Amino acid sequence: MMSQLFAIDGPSGSGKSTTAKLLAKRLGLGYLDTGAMYRAATTEYLRRFPEGAAAGEVSQLVAEADLVCDTSPDEPCFHINGHDVTEEIREPRISAAVSTVATNLEVRRLLTELMRAVIDQHGRRIVVEGRDITTVVAPDADVRVLLVADPQARVARRAAEVAGKASAEEVTDQVLRRDRDDSTVSNFTDAAEGVTVIDSTFLTPDEVVDAIIALAPRA
Ligand code: C5P
Repeated sequence: MMSQLFAIDGPSGSGKSTTAKLLAKRLGLGYLDTGAMYRAATTEYLRRFPEGAAAGEVSQLVAEADLVCDTSPDEPCFHINGHDVTEEIREPRISAAVSTVATNLEVRRLLTELMRAVIDQHGRRIVVEGRDITTVVAPDADVRVLLVADPQARVARRAAEVAGKASAEEVTDQVLRRDRDDSTVSNFTDAAEGVTVIDSTFLTPDEVVDAIIALAPRA
């Protein structure tokens, strides 16, 4: 079957997950949330090293981890070393710590390998979302999109998602401070050559999906 690899990058709150899942469902493709992979690694890091750890210890933990990623666009489950961390990865303490793990370059190399393996297992018929999919993980994807939105819209969306579970300051930290930290290792504010920017500020998820499908090469 024809390769249908969609790479979608963007900052937190840009609508990546909602859009990527909807796109995968509409086209009958797999779905890989690479942020969830960094989040799963972070749960194990906090369990093993509550006081913090040296960079080498963090990357060793990831190298030895058994990370199982579900690629269904419905309710994808994530397991690490036998623990189901699907719910835990969404906790504010994970959002607050994930950049520490994600800015470790050896961790990025290891997880990038795993992402490519998942893409290949799916025969390249999958929607992959993250921060460096269009640039590092799958620069050869069939469709490459950078999804952006105004900072106020992004903070408001994240606040609605975590309603009641995090304060306004925590949400702002989770969106804006995290973008700043993440942007030290991947550039998800400027589109690389061949990457189409879609601004979701005033679009519904369905409209964003329509715009992405319009970019796909015809069979
Ligand atoms: O998208 P989400 O907010 O779940 O991503 C969680 C974290 O994972 C990001 O803040 C970033 O640190 C990291 N990440 C990354 N590269 C990716 C996807 C996520 O560094 N491709």
